[in-house]
Amino acid sequence: MTYLSRYVWPEVVRQAHLVVAAHADGRMCGRCAEPGDCHRLRNARVEIGTFDPPRGTPIRLAAGEWSHCAGLDPAATVEMRVARVHIERMHPNDEEVWVSGHLSSCPAQAVAEHRACVELLARVDALIRLAKTRSR
Ligand SMILES: [Zn+2]
Ligand SMILES: [Zn+2]
Repeated sequence: MTYLSRYVWPEVVRQAHLVVAAHADGRMCGRCAEPGDCHRLRNARVEIGTFDPPRGTPIRLAAGEWSHCAGLDPAATVEMRVARVHIERMHPNDEEVWVSGHLSSCPAQAVAEHRACVELLARVDALIRLAKTRSR
């Protein structure tokens, strides 16, 4: 996956959801090798996992993979559960995106509508790496 303009990502994610829907119930697309074995489907899952992960998805960001979070030591590894990846708020460099959620130490993380207690700027390449690991 290469870096795309922040204006393109929302459309990429929309298309990825369509690809996943087209494979529901074991259906195959024109590029499936066999049911469930599809390069297109794997890419779509990574794209969704990167920019539209299910609420509560755990992520772990090392120092240098995140920034702009007041109250956290910039040298710390952040373990959090994602409330939302704010794809509409990509950093102008297209390499970072705002992510909100709950620190793994937050007792409120199980409460779905509780206001997110952490918001930081995460590196897109780090989020892609994590999504790839999850979709394996
Ligand atoms: Zn397919
Ligand atoms: Zn919290």
